[in-house]
Amino acid sequence: MIDKKLYTIAVHAGTQPDPRTGAVMTPIYQTSTFVQEAPGEHRGWDYSRGTNPSRDALQEALAALEGATCALAFSSGLAAEQAIVQNLSPGDHVLVCNDVYGGTGRLFRTLIARFGIEFEFIDLSDLDHARQCMRPSTRMVWIETPTNPTLAILDIAALADIAHANEAKLVVDNTFATPLFQAPLALGADIAVHSTTKYIGGHSDLIGGAVMTNNEEWADKIRYVQFAAGAVSGPIESFLLHRSIKSLAVRMAQHAINADAVARCLDAHPKVSRTYYPGLPDHPGHELAARQMSGYSGIVSCNVNGDFAAVTKFVKRLRIFQLAESLGGVESLINHPEKMTHASVPEPLRKELGIGPNLLRFSVGIESSDDLIEDIEQAFEAI
Ligand SMILES: *Cc1c(COP(=O)(O)O)cnc(C)c1O
Repeated sequence: MIDKKLYTIAVHAGTQPDPRTGAVMTPIYQTSTFVQEAPGEHRGWDYSRGTNPSRDALQEALAALEGATCALAFSSGLAAEQAIVQNLSPGDHVLVCNDVYGGTGRLFRTLIARFGIEFEFIDLSDLDHARQCMRPSTRMVWIETPTNPTLAILDIAALADIAHANEAKLVVDNTFATPLFQAPLALGADIAVHSTTKYIGGHSDLIGGAVMTNNEEWADKIRYVQFAAGAVSGPIESFLLHRSIKSLAVRMAQHAINADAVARCLDAHPKVSRTYYPGLPDHPGHELAARQMSGYSGIVSCNVNGDFAAVTKFVKRLRIFQLAESLGGVESLINHPEKMTHASVPEPLRKELGIGPNLLRFSVGIESSDDLIEDIEQAFEAI
């Protein structure tokens, strides 16, 4: 269950009536610069790469939702991640969960590793192994939970302890759970990061990212990268995201109800061999998820009984679920990870993670769950 207080926070955080006009909504401050009364004398805003009132309002809302003292909004989820790892130095070592989002792996392996930072990708569900892999040079442990696309659950509190015993920071990509269903900072993580493109945006109409933290030193470091490198959320995107946050709690509640219905339908279906949803009692991470999450969010995956041709037939027959990458929007989407979102993951790792020709990932939207289940059932009749 979503903490009731978050429903109110989602609607009100960061929004004050406009002091000039009384407008209930924060206006879109579509401006690059701000007039100064005298050289260096201004009202707190001088140039929009540094600060912009539309972005300030969004950041205040994001911080309140995540229970953080600081939130910073970026032009994409990956820009937010880059701003974090840009603070590492040559010789630093980072442990990363091996089923991290494909674009995160690509950013670390192909762009950041060039600067002498070593990223080691391992299975972080094995806590003893995690402990053994920590080195004196380990500065950061980077995880995602639930993971994509097999919805594995990692123990945030335990990994925070392991990181802190080594004076490293724990970063949690909280995109799949959202701040409504999981509070990594309260569980001991140092930094939460989001692709706001997904549930927080929620309408498949923008790209954005955010970093939240209670650690002042890291807030300053990341804020400095945001200012110095400039991958900021623009005024219109900031406005749209802030607007989306107002309905986030009701949307997430509906996503979770629908995903639970879809997961149960798939789990019982003769044409499905395995269903992945942390809310199902037989999911390997169910107990841990029940402890550290307040709901199981809206993504469900499954292995279809059949080959790639049968799977293709099934996805083409679906009428409501649209075949597309991305997730977290109000509309239901279906994705074939092997050929779509995870095509860039090296083949041996894909095999290890169980991403094969018969795996499908459903981003369950907020339509009627009856319609969604009827859609799945009629499409299975085709194969
Ligand atoms: C999409 C996604 C990202 C990357 O975010 P962009 O907004 O596409 O840059 C990072 N992590 C997760 C879990 C994602 O789903």
